[in-house]
Amino acid sequence: MQDEMTPGKGWALETLAIRAGHNRTHEQEHAEPIFPTSSFVYASAAEAARKFSGEEPGNVYSRFTNPTVATFEQRLAALENGERCVATSSGMAAILSTVLALLQSGDEIVASRSLFGSTVSLFDKYFAKLGITTHYVELADLAAWEAAITPRTRLLFAETPSNPLAELVDIAALAEIAHRHDALLAIDNCFLTPALQKPLTLGADLVIHSATKYLDGQGRAVGGAVVGRRQELDEVFGVVRTCGPCLSPFNAWIFTKGLETLDLRMRAHCANAQALAEWLQAHPAVARVHYSGLREHPQHELASRQQSGFGAVLSFEVQGEREAAWSVIDATRMLSITGNLGDVKSTITHPASTTHARLSPQQKAAAGISESLIRVAVGLEAIEDIRSDLARGLDALSN
Ligand SMILES: *Cc1c(COP(=O)(O)O)cnc(C)c1O
Repeated sequence: MQDEMTPGKGWALETLAIRAGHNRTHEQEHAEPIFPTSSFVYASAAEAARKFSGEEPGNVYSRFTNPTVATFEQRLAALENGERCVATSSGMAAILSTVLALLQSGDEIVASRSLFGSTVSLFDKYFAKLGITTHYVELADLAAWEAAITPRTRLLFAETPSNPLAELVDIAALAEIAHRHDALLAIDNCFLTPALQKPLTLGADLVIHSATKYLDGQGRAVGGAVVGRRQELDEVFGVVRTCGPCLSPFNAWIFTKGLETLDLRMRAHCANAQALAEWLQAHPAVARVHYSGLREHPQHELASRQQSGFGAVLSFEVQGEREAAWSVIDATRMLSITGNLGDVKSTITHPASTTHARLSPQQKAAAGISESLIRVAVGLEAIEDIRSDLARGLDALSN
């Protein structure tokens, strides 16, 4: 009998990413199969009754469980060091399901001010309607987090590092604050993935993923996941099963295969991003680079301690205003001009007029989103090609 690939048995992350969660069928297939089926059948009425009641484990309907989705969930749970993972139809569905499962009307959330735009809309527009209020604080300011907590606070929510300025929060310290006040800490681990950061090991209670980004890594599918302890994840599963934001078997299969190269890809992404950040920092047309892998980054020491890599999303300010930033973006011939990230293809974005356009000029100033800021999610093309694509516009600015 071969050993099951479960964490805590000494298997390395690279190994778990390739092998965990595949329970081979009687066909003895080598690669993970896809089960594109809505429902399952039984040998008898009695077996159906046992499966429906939960008395006997097994599949009933793919909104509840599906073997391909289960493989992805078990693999990601192993990588994040969680007891259970629940997959969802998108990253947003992961956040929605978590809050619906664990909070109720009258509860409060304390969240970082630097969050994905749709997360802020979800909190302010939809959770507010359910009587769940969110207070925003500066990501790195632990005293501000603690000051915003009230007896009704149930959840602390952060992305670290932040987008696009790569600011960090000390996850272990934030978890300690959350637990002292009987609240849960959820970390959106989209930017680093378990290959570079393990929030549960650092003390967080829940990890949120948009699998759409690096877990797939090749821009093929939309999906998400929540990972954590069985106690909370059983509740999240209840929401997904009842409300229906479940992941399709086909997308789950894509993410499962994506995880197999996660560690390798993330290392290569980090190497390209570090090289690009250092090159940008030395370019005369660049005023400032935001990347936690640079020694000059104010939280470089925390990043080195809490992460096992610095990620591949960086941003930089060019000399000049919006016109200068746009000229650099428009001079590229290879980089994809898009708001997306977490892809082998490098992407370039002007946050002030796209991902952060909804902010008022005052909010942009407070958040550090200047008109001269450009974000690059560094992909896996040859670093010389990425550099020369950016050099065209930057050289023109400095001449
Ligand atoms: C993309 C993203 C999300 C939302 O995920 P979807 O899969 O697009 O729903 C949430 N958080 C972060 C940090 C993201 O980048």
